[in-house]
Amino acid sequence: MSPTALDPTPGHIDSFSLPATTNDQSKVVHPSARRTPEGGLIKVESESTSYEEEGIRAKFTDRGAEVVKGADGKLTVKKTEKNFEFFTKSKVGRVGLMLVGLGGNNGTTVLATHLANKHNISWRTKNGVQQPNYIGSVVRASTVRLGIDPETGKDVFVPISDMLPMVHPNDFVIGGWDISSLPLDKAMLRAKVLEWDLQRQLIPLMDGVKPMPSIYYPDFIAANQADRADNLIPGDDKAAHLEHIRADIRQFKADNELDSVVVLWTANTERYADIIPGINDTAENLLKAVESSHDEVSPSTVFAIASILEGVPFINGSPQNTFVPGCIELAEKHKTFIGGDDFKSGQTKVKSVLAEFLVNAGIKPLSISSYNHLGNNDGKNLSSQRQFRSKEISKSSVVDDMVAANHVLYKTAADLTKETGEIVKKGEHPDHIVVIKHVPAVGDSKRAIDEYYSELLMGGRNVMNIFNECEDSLLATPLIFDLAILAELLTRVTYREGEAGEFQPLYSVLSLLSYMLKAPLVKPGTDVVNSLNRQRNALEQFLKACIGLEGSNDLLLNTRVW
Ligand code: NAD
Repeated sequence: MSPTALDPTPGHIDSFSLPATTNDQSKVVHPSARRTPEGGLIKVESESTSYEEEGIRAKFTDRGAEVVKGADGKLTVKKTEKNFEFFTKSKVGRVGLMLVGLGGNNGTTVLATHLANKHNISWRTKNGVQQPNYIGSVVRASTVRLGIDPETGKDVFVPISDMLPMVHPNDFVIGGWDISSLPLDKAMLRAKVLEWDLQRQLIPLMDGVKPMPSIYYPDFIAANQADRADNLIPGDDKAAHLEHIRADIRQFKADNELDSVVVLWTANTERYADIIPGINDTAENLLKAVESSHDEVSPSTVFAIASILEGVPFINGSPQNTFVPGCIELAEKHKTFIGGDDFKSGQTKVKSVLAEFLVNAGIKPLSISSYNHLGNNDGKNLSSQRQFRSKEISKSSVVDDMVAANHVLYKTAADLTKETGEIVKKGEHPDHIVVIKHVPAVGDSKRAIDEYYSELLMGGRNVMNIFNECEDSLLATPLIFDLAILAELLTRVTYREGEAGEFQPLYSVLSLLSYMLKAPLVKPGTDVVNSLNRQRNALEQFLKACIGLEGSNDLLLNTRVW
């Protein structure tokens, strides 16, 4: 039974359920959908934080360490400090969320979840009455520790959504594109994700609404998608397509009187685009490649360019390399925001936790073998080799940084080079395979089976098997809300180093979104962090820094001293 569904059995206590006898469901709001009190829940009283009419100003010292290795192999550590000032505009305004792939399983589930929460539509299941909610959203349904209550000495936790002014997902104005013309009520039925009693009530709200026509270059997605593609922007002129999408974004903004827009790709996984010098390696070349309608410019890259040129954030929820080098450079030039790649919803999320647990416990994973089968349209598209390859790549790198961080268990590239006398580029690594199969019968309920085979003390071995039934779109949908909420917030944060000089926006690649993404895009030349704990800490610490608080303090010195 779903933990949020009502159990009519007397004696059952479920903090999120509604009493069976409640008739007026419209008054009860799930905690993950509740609103922050007017003026905000948190006020920091400190010299480093000031609340101004336009926003919150906070001083923050970034403390780190530089480590230098001497000729004798010994390490010298120097403490570093850098002072920053952050300014977060407090007016959120009206925010548009434009989904590419609006008619898909994720797209329709996002819209349906938004509408069910907005109109507080509850529905009957065999277990009782189910209330709409945003469970699975890190922003809406998880908490951070703010400090202690001085009277009780107990920790005080707040939802992430209360830390800074953020858009409430009920307030998004949602629209978007799909190459399939099916109206969204029918597309929701096609997706087979939500219960019928909810769908039934949502149909009148989604009835007849069609996604905007989109760009379809058949070479980029599986051939088995062709029969869906009946809602297309005509022609094969990529420059005209780019202008069309830009005009769509402007029109959507104007029609809905929006202050800002986030564009998010939740359309089919595309094949990788070849990186070709002179074509997509620089911003200038990429724009020229669009002008000449070059074959290697994918639909997702056209959407990314359109968003960048319109000054709106673009997030890629699929694994392909939408952000070719020229696209990243274009975002940098325009100081707009991009984030990606590939929602981290099921197997990879568990893997990033489990691999970290093993390696940090001093146990050595020797192999990680992952099998998935799923029956939705995503699975059908991924049954084609070139699209599967994109997914395989994005799923593969997830343990790299944890392994590289432990040179006690795993030999480094330098160790191996010394040992073999040949130049080795990559350090020792567990064997890692990923298999995905399309099994229509299981629909959106993806099965992920993982075996972790590890080395223990004195040559011992450990095998751990995990069977994870993922409910794909119900896991991806809250991530889509999180990505859009955080991306919009990050457009309102500016910073300066020290206390003088102009405030400027954050760097274009929003690596703070890494928690929600399988293959996080980071600033070129910097390391990818895959550890889910470190990704969450980074987000938490950043949000705290914006209100002038120190990061999470698990030292709890008061509990360790007399
Ligand atoms: P889906 O196949 O149900 O939906 C994708 C939609 O995109 C379809 O309606 C399709 O018609 C549309 N589309 C394809 N090309 C398009 C284009 N050029 N422009 C506009 N629309 C286009 O898939 P889904 O289950 O909703 O997943 C969407 C994407 O998210 C997939 O790429 C998937 O790999 C990725 N993803 C999903 C999850 C998850 O659901 N848990 C996790 C990680 C990544």
